[in-house]
Amino acid sequence: MSGSSNTHSIYSASGAHRWTSCPPSAQLEQQFPNETSVYADEGTAAHDLAEHKLKRSLKMRSKKPISKYDSDEMDEYTDLYVEFCLNLINAAKENCKDLQILIEQKLDFSDYVPEGYGTGDLVVVGNGTLHVVDFKYGKGIVVSSERNPQMMLYALGAFSLFEMLYDIETITMVIVQPRVDNFSTYKMHVDELLTWAKDELKPKAHLASTGGGEFCAGDHCRFCRAKNQCRARAVKNLELLKYEFADAALLSDDEIADIIGLAEEISKWASDIYTYATALAINEGRQWVV
Ligand code: SF4
Repeated sequence: MSGSSNTHSIYSASGAHRWTSCPPSAQLEQQFPNETSVYADEGTAAHDLAEHKLKRSLKMRSKKPISKYDSDEMDEYTDLYVEFCLNLINAAKENCKDLQILIEQKLDFSDYVPEGYGTGDLVVVGNGTLHVVDFKYGKGIVVSSERNPQMMLYALGAFSLFEMLYDIETITMVIVQPRVDNFSTYKMHVDELLTWAKDELKPKAHLASTGGGEFCAGDHCRFCRAKNQCRARAVKNLELLKYEFADAALLSDDEIADIIGLAEEISKWASDIYTYATALAINEGRQWVV
């Protein structure tokens, strides 16, 4: 989630895809300010509204948040989220008398990740199943819940809250991203989650906390605060340019298809560098000799 109450730890759940893929990024990022954006602020407003609507639908006390981002579109998409959550809750209720429903629940996974915690938008537990739901208001990237590290961290936090009270066998992780019609559900057995946490997550979190491990560039770089100046990302993108062409005078269709695939990542990187350098030139008078 990205609600206003979520103070990020440096190993936050929302950054887990990045720091589990590139552990030293957790320390490297600390040199750079955590800047917000209009999109992040809009997402926070949408979360606050969605939380309010869900609580009211469940007859819980809540005061309607007011925000400059309020719009018919936000109203419509938060309604869709609430409708999805209510359907999930009603289906879970059918077979369970002691259902627990938690909204905007702090989830602590510090047994595996130093100071690690996040906030679950909706957690429902009962009848052997734990459901963890995350509302995403963004529409730039469609996010899958399949083995999604952010969702698995929330699941770990929720499991540790309830493991003494409920006999949980299955975890269902759901990402609700209504603006792109994405309702992504992934089920996992608890044993599989705990094995991942012990064998993969914990060692990576240790590397992240000590600045160890290898830098590894990939699509996760786009959310890294070090992305403009990161050498590993530059090296990877410059490697992509070392394309072996055939001798023929004209490019083949296969070569053009390859170049299109490479160009996407390279153009993202070049655009980040250009934006960064331009901002420094405007704001600090920095001159770049090219
Ligand atoms: S930009 Fe990418 S490679 Fe560089 S530190 Fe960040 S995540 Fe790692």
